[in-house]
Amino acid sequence: MDIEPQGVTEESHKSSTNPFKTHRPLAWGLQIVSDLKEIPSEYVHYTQKKSDDPEPVQKLFDVLDELVRKVKLIKVQPLSLTPEQERQFRSAEECVLCRKEYDDVDIRVRDHDHYTGEYRGSAHRTCNVNYTDQMGGDKFVLPVVAHNMRGYDG
Ligand SMILES: [Zn+2]
Repeated sequence: MDIEPQGVTEESHKSSTNPFKTHRPLAWGLQIVSDLKEIPSEYVHYTQKKSDDPEPVQKLFDVLDELVRKVKLIKVQPLSLTPEQERQFRSAEECVLCRKEYDDVDIRVRDHDHYTGEYRGSAHRTCNVNYTDQMGGDKFVLPVVAHNMRGYDG
């Protein structure tokens, strides 16, 4: 994601010794990266051309909300293990998510991708629940990366 600002000096910020401006975003671009067939990888951009056009930040959040809505509508696929994967699950000595070795009291589960049904490996139950919440539960997280903030030249 990249955001282009317009510098605006507001009356409350005027100072001869400490000049600064408030930067209002005017435009943004967002590269959507997805492996899900329901959500294409595509470049989306928006520029506020007139003052009565939607605010760029609000428009960005609308687009992100729509992405989250689409992800949540995707049907969860059932788990299907091959005999080899089942053997791997039974003989696994470490969790595929945290990479810690199992001890005798750990509860192990068959961790899988809820969108594809693909088995990922043996995992601690707590690691699996935390990971599942991030990917598809009520606590769904949509990763958004803003780039070049160090080189911001607004
Ligand atoms: Zn774990």
